[in-house]
Amino acid sequence: MPSATSTTPPPPEFRVLIVGGSYGGLCAALTLLDLSRGQVARFNFTENPQPPSRKIPIQITVVDERDGFYHLIGSPKALACDKFASKTWTRFDDIPALQTPSVRFVQGSVNSVDCQSKVAQILDTNTKETRKEKYDFLIASSGLRRVFPTVPQSLRRDEFLEEAKSHMDEIRKAQDGVAIIGGGAVGVEMAAELRILHPDQKITLIHSRDRLLSAEPLPVEFQDRVVSVIREAGVKLILGQRVVGTTTIETEGGRRIWHLTLADGRSIYAGHVMNAVSKSIPTSSYLPKEVLNEEGYVNIRPSTQFLEDIPNAEHHFAIGDIASWAGIKRCGGAMHMAYYAANNAHQLMLSADKPEFIALERSPPVIGLALGKNAVSYTPDQGTRDGEELHESLFGKDMGYSICWNYMKMSEPCEA
Ligand SMILES: Cc1cc2nc3c(=O)[nH]c(=O)nc-3n(C[C@H](O)[C@H](O)[C@H](O)COP(=O)(O)OP(=O)(O)OC[C@H]3O[C@@H](n4cnc5c(N)ncnc54)[C@H](O)[C@@H]3O)c2cc1C
Repeated sequence: MPSATSTTPPPPEFRVLIVGGSYGGLCAALTLLDLSRGQVARFNFTENPQPPSRKIPIQITVVDERDGFYHLIGSPKALACDKFASKTWTRFDDIPALQTPSVRFVQGSVNSVDCQSKVAQILDTNTKETRKEKYDFLIASSGLRRVFPTVPQSLRRDEFLEEAKSHMDEIRKAQDGVAIIGGGAVGVEMAAELRILHPDQKITLIHSRDRLLSAEPLPVEFQDRVVSVIREAGVKLILGQRVVGTTTIETEGGRRIWHLTLADGRSIYAGHVMNAVSKSIPTSSYLPKEVLNEEGYVNIRPSTQFLEDIPNAEHHFAIGDIASWAGIKRCGGAMHMAYYAANNAHQLMLSADKPEFIALERSPPVIGLALGKNAVSYTPDQGTRDGEELHESLFGKDMGYSICWNYMKMSEPCEA
């Protein structure tokens, strides 16, 4: 017989490991925090949402190679303007909404994951040691591996500010103009942004195909509109030409000039060259091969869980850019999937037998480009649109930084 003073043991604490603390990873952490505290999730916009029936003890570990949240969308401006750069990177310790003992940040790299034993190996940046982390649920949100100057390569805020400043200085000093190679989403945004930030610089954008954004599943009308907006912004556009040679020349005054040779034999000279061509690849090398498709993206179900044939698949989720899911990779998509993954993991915590999952729907291609003061967008419903008002509604005054930050409610302190 239990004595009168005996108490029931506390419910088990669920350990959630989140790989990558960007749009997807942080939205998942915030959703789980809300739900575990018996509150409606901040990203639940359904009519008359009901809070969970009870609170659940939870311990979230977010591992990221960076020491903070970096607003990736702002990169075309941040890497050309040190003042803006300072706004776009917030150390995890400085995000009020995530300051709670229920969330722990580890700066490091997840090297491997064993789905069977539910153990991850983490190389900790500070201790330089690899350690094992046991988890109950894993959310993979580590995105794509991107090169400079698409994204900064620094992993600490202070180093990033230096990196942005030195890049900005190079652009400013480039007396013979700046050439950007690659007219995908990143290249066109860079070109337009540089025209605004450095209006005296000659900016040339070179793309190998006849149409900009040729790799995306977008209508020709959208691609053509981007061409007009880019030209109106004062960018010199060269289409249908591959860069076949790059050499540097030292002038008598000690200045370095880039000499680019195009496929038709033309020569282009520039004081600074930015390569926006490289294909970004998924960061999924830490996951077992069986969970990936041939390109390295994680195969998921509409619940965002790994496919059924993986051991403990129900406890493993993938969201954002790393997940194989229809549509153009976008930060809004990463946030949306994060809410689904966290909600579904929470359902399993509440009731492993009768979870009520929410399921992603196929997303059509949708895109919004910040092109200096202008923006161009495409959605299947509204077609192609552009204009300064559109820019204001999609990106505000800071390349979408405040829109994302406020959507995540990152300034609101976490209540106990
Ligand atoms: C220049 C540029 C402009 C863009 N503009 C827009 C836009 O205007 N609108 C829009 O919707 N989308 C835009 N995008 C796309 C958008 O940024 C991505 O879709 C979004 O960042 C995906 O978020 P995520 O959380 O999945 O991954 P990411 O934002 O890529 O974050 C992944 C995180 O995981 C970390 N990480 C990686 N590997 C590991 C590991 N092994 N261990 C631990 N941590 C790891 C990284 O450090 C990073 O913090 C843009 C992208 C770029 C590059």
